Amino acid sequence: MDADAIKREHRIRQRRYWFAQIPMMGGLLLTVWAGTSHHERLLRISPLWFALLGFVVFAGGVAWSLNNYRCPACNGRLLGTAKRVQQTGRCTACGVALR
Ligand SMILES: [Zn+2]
Repeated sequence: MDADAIKREHRIRQRRYWFAQIPMMGGLLLTVWAGTSHHERLLRISPLWFALLGFVVFAGGVAWSLNNYRCPACNGRLLGTAKRVQQTGRCTACGVALR
């Protein structure tokens, strides 16, 4: 993979990572909403099921992000080092330019 292809692939993965935040935050909010207040059963379904559903969506989003947001060159995880990657524009593992 040449340098331009790596940068392009990184942009695509980064965009996917940001889009994944939307359902993840939705899942988290659903869990908090269903778990913290005393709701009447909604559509005859216990709020616990909504909390569980929200949590599954959130946990799935985290797992997916960990697997998706990787360096296109060395496949090293960029999540968790995202801030340093943003500052330097380089992979923290192999040092390839990502921007
Ligand atoms: Zn790398």
